[in-house]
Amino acid sequence: MRFDEAYSGNVFINSHPLVEESDAVIYGMPMDWTVSFRPGSRFGPARIREVSLGLEEYSPYVDRHLDEVKYYDAGDIPLPFGNPARSLQMIEEFVTKVLQANKFPLGLGGEHLVSWPVFKAMYNKYQDMAIIHIDAHADLREEYEGEPLSHSTPIRKACELIGAENVYSFGIRSGMKEEFQFAKDSGMYMAKFDVVEPLKEVLPKLAGRNVYVTIDIDVLDPAHAPGTGTAEAGGITSKELLNAITLISNSKLNIIGTDLVEVAPAYDPTEQTQIAASKFVREILLGWVKK
Ligand code: MN
Ligand code: MN
Repeated sequence: MRFDEAYSGNVFINSHPLVEESDAVIYGMPMDWTVSFRPGSRFGPARIREVSLGLEEYSPYVDRHLDEVKYYDAGDIPLPFGNPARSLQMIEEFVTKVLQANKFPLGLGGEHLVSWPVFKAMYNKYQDMAIIHIDAHADLREEYEGEPLSHSTPIRKACELIGAENVYSFGIRSGMKEEFQFAKDSGMYMAKFDVVEPLKEVLPKLAGRNVYVTIDIDVLDPAHAPGTGTAEAGGITSKELLNAITLISNSKLNIIGTDLVEVAPAYDPTEQTQIAASKFVREILLGWVKK
């Protein structure tokens, strides 16, 4: 697969036209086939790109301009509606190509199950990897209504793949009792409710490690991000998530890739969710992509 076989009418602001000259690849995973509540995140990637045109290209958070990072926007992977297994296969193949080309993958969801094939592709290249997971939900279920391929299972699968002791969850405020019990028993790290303060404790311990970061937009309070399928009251502010991103930018971690998932634009007529998401993507590009 060539990168330009994916398609989209739009690209993220200031994207570089040539993948060969880029250090990062933005790609969309427009899938919402397994969500347990409200669908619509398949439209997240396209709308995040569209509203990115309203962003400043300069970041006062890190005093950098988007011209200082070269990234290519490959558009959305053309996933087949209603077929999770084949969609996941296509995502894994796409990310494998990105990694073979030595580019930093920055994925936009889509429901959170899209991160599972990304984890597999990343683990193929980085067997020593850790995962930072920022979310309202534990996503530690073994299955949902008998279905192991669900947007509520990707972190459980990650624990099985890379070892629970390499998985670090932040901001978690929802899940079954069994999921919280698993978090305790398995040896994974889970910070309930908060993100910034626990990150300050964990980041020094992860110094020098290869770390993949997956961010579910519903870690934000619904007041800051109503445009998501499974909104959960009691979340963090958009300012706190920006602080978390900057903390990671300034840490000694080697960030190997990332995704931002579960933006469902139709539930937010104010567009604040997707506007916030596009700003998070800008800060990630400026802070996490290494040349
Ligand atoms: Mn999630
Ligand atoms: Mn969630």
